[in-house]
Amino acid sequence: MPRSVLDTVIAHLELEARIGGYEAAAAAHDRLEAVYDSAARLLNCRPTEIALFDNATRAFNAVLYAIPFSPGDRILTGRAEYASNYMAYLHLARTTGARIVVVPDDDQGQIDVDELAFRIDGRAKLIALTHVPTSGGLVNPAEDVGRLARESRVPFLLDACQSVGQMPIDVSEIGCDFLSTTGRKFLRGPRGTGFLYVNGEWIERLHPPFLDLGGAEWTSLDSYQFRQDARRFETWEAAHALRLGLGRAIDYALDLGLDDIWARVRELAESLRAHLVAIAGVTQHDRGEKLCGIVTFSVAGVAAEVSLVEDTRLDLEERGLDRIVRASVHYYNTEEEISRLCELIDVLARGR
Ligand SMILES: *Cc1c(COP(=O)(O)O)cnc(C)c1O
Repeated sequence: MPRSVLDTVIAHLELEARIGGYEAAAAAHDRLEAVYDSAARLLNCRPTEIALFDNATRAFNAVLYAIPFSPGDRILTGRAEYASNYMAYLHLARTTGARIVVVPDDDQGQIDVDELAFRIDGRAKLIALTHVPTSGGLVNPAEDVGRLARESRVPFLLDACQSVGQMPIDVSEIGCDFLSTTGRKFLRGPRGTGFLYVNGEWIERLHPPFLDLGGAEWTSLDSYQFRQDARRFETWEAAHALRLGLGRAIDYALDLGLDDIWARVRELAESLRAHLVAIAGVTQHDRGEKLCGIVTFSVAGVAAEVSLVEDTRLDLEERGLDRIVRASVHYYNTEEEISRLCELIDVLARGR
């Protein structure tokens, strides 16, 4: 976390300790509201299309479990799915009778958009896809999927946990209806934060799977009304200090500029990959036409444990990989650090 993110979190906790949680919330009201503006600016959407969560998994599930699946409905997904996402599809398949359709990769290792198009029919209820998997430097062609989703009028949920904060993300360019992401990864925000984008046209059509007095209003003894914005998916109680920290982290990234961050990340990742492939015994595993700041590799004969097959089973099992070392460069890294890392790996690789 940048120092200013940490300071923001601590300052609000101290305020809560001094004047109490409700008074502190009132004092921070405008800054808490501004977190929605910052998230909206980051994703290029409206603040009313943003909901804040305690992690990305809850954000993703808020939409997934709001979709009324019937027996035979299809969830179309890719091979790079994160474990929690795929287990949620499995659970929904078991409880609703929906079917999971895993779209094959193309020869570059990214979702094959023609194969996806081929599988879209009247039973396709949702396209749910991971943008950048936890297990590699791949960037799935989200814009192509978005175009197809729009044309075929199938809603599209994008898990952008590993892409938000390392590259510019524009939900209108991507054409997704929903996007979930986390604060704790490339955004450099505090743990325990995540957020969701819900396209304005979808908000009133989706009923949150859970409701409470934050997402809805108890209007009479036997009625209630959902909020009209994306916050209908939220619960009332939240860690305000962390939300403010998330807002600070987003502003920090926006101030640096996502284009500049992305250029720097790609430059460093390319450098790291070039250094790694030059080391005897090291195999580089990133796939895809477009590569990002996640660099995965394995060192023959050296036991290291980072990304496991259980994290992205469809992807790693097919590639015959049980575990791979994952390095993630960010813009604040230096070429010296890359050289140091590679020297160390070189020593390890020779020592086998
Ligand atoms: C980390 C990660 C998640 C989960 O994010 P949390 O904020 O920990 O819930 C989901 N999908 C992908 C691709 C991830 O890398």
